[in-house]
Amino acid sequence: MRRALFPGSFDPITKGHEDIILRGLTLFDELVIGVGSNTEKNYMFPTKKRINFIKKLFVNEKKIIVNKYNGLTVDFCKSINASYILRGLRNPADFEFEKAIAHTNRKLSGIETIFLLTSAKTSYISSGIVREIIINKGDYKSLVPSSVRL
Ligand code: ADP
Repeated sequence: MRRALFPGSFDPITKGHEDIILRGLTLFDELVIGVGSNTEKNYMFPTKKRINFIKKLFVNEKKIIVNKYNGLTVDFCKSINASYILRGLRNPADFEFEKAIAHTNRKLSGIETIFLLTSAKTSYISSGIVREIIINKGDYKSLVPSSVRL
């Protein structure tokens, strides 16, 4: 059984995340979406809401499990028996950042990180931009799945 973890803040989930999840699903038997829940981070949406947006979106997808977690990603992987971490790459900045983390995670645990390049259509989307639009009362709806509503 190939089980992967797709970790992130998902504050909120965007069409960019959705794209990576749907394409990642073709590679693994099960995909656990790990919603980070660190007390020192200031999220716009509470953990429960971030999880519900994702659960609602994938309600009919049997291969997807949504869980919250805190602490080290590799420790969470071990606790759920995931041998892979899935990450999306949008640009060179993502690559530089992710490279160091992937090397470190493999050194710590042997867990491999699998990267998917973003689709051109969604590569510019980030949760940060979506939050900025929401704060300024703009129309964020075309950037997120329809399960994400205020
Ligand atoms: P984090 O707080 O770990 O950066 P995010 O929720 O922002 O969490 O992102 C989780 C994962 O989704 C990361 O691998 C990130 O590169 C990827 N991702 C974010 N936005 C997009 C996008 N528009 N297209 C593809 N992947 C994305």
